[in-house]
Amino acid sequence: MPRRLAPVSALQVASVETLETYGAATAGCTRCRLAQGRTQVVFGAGNPRADLMFVGEAPGFHEDKQGVPFVGQAGKLLDGLLAGVQLRREDVYIANVLKCRPPGNRDPQPDEIEACEPHLFRQIELIEPKVIATLGNFATKLLSGRPLGITRVHGQEQELTIAGRSVLLYPIYHPAAALYTPAMLKVLESDFARLPELMGRGSRPAVLAEPVPEPAVAEPAEQLGLF
Ligand code: URA
Repeated sequence: MPRRLAPVSALQVASVETLETYGAATAGCTRCRLAQGRTQVVFGAGNPRADLMFVGEAPGFHEDKQGVPFVGQAGKLLDGLLAGVQLRREDVYIANVLKCRPPGNRDPQPDEIEACEPHLFRQIELIEPKVIATLGNFATKLLSGRPLGITRVHGQEQELTIAGRSVLLYPIYHPAAALYTPAMLKVLESDFARLPELMGRGSRPAVLAEPVPEPAVAEPAEQLGLF
């Protein structure tokens, strides 16, 4: 008589958390005040097994309406920058520090970031990206755990342990910076140009370049929180 294996119960199968089930579970999140004003939680989009993950700031008007990150003006720029390095949205995963739209697109508040960060860290655990490109100040400061602004650290990869795994963190300016300062597009393009090399590098140790000294003058778009 062949030995019969015990059937895997439906309950056991259902208890395996995937990015999809985790996303569905966050749809009713009330961890912070932003739950009151949002249309929907904008969890993230793209390839759940992506080697490259982008982390932006927070959903804006269009993202809140459509439930998809980076679908507004900054998203169009992001699409163009991805195309410049032969990548499509479907090849990467895109998320934000905050999953709900702050009113009037104001900056994320520290308590909102704290309330929302378990969602981002769980996403990283489930996706297991090799490279995380942080777009702008908020994502960079949160994931690097350092207070250094994007002007100082953009384009400088750093090997870190995030959500228990070794990952290459690669800070880049937020694409919206190029909407306000067109010259920024060249900087973004040159930082994006290194992404294929970084993805190939996987988790080999990276040399952390010395941070460029802070400019003596005030940074022009500080009020936007993008630089
Ligand atoms: N859209 C997003 O989804 N995130 C940003 O940071 C900006 C625009």
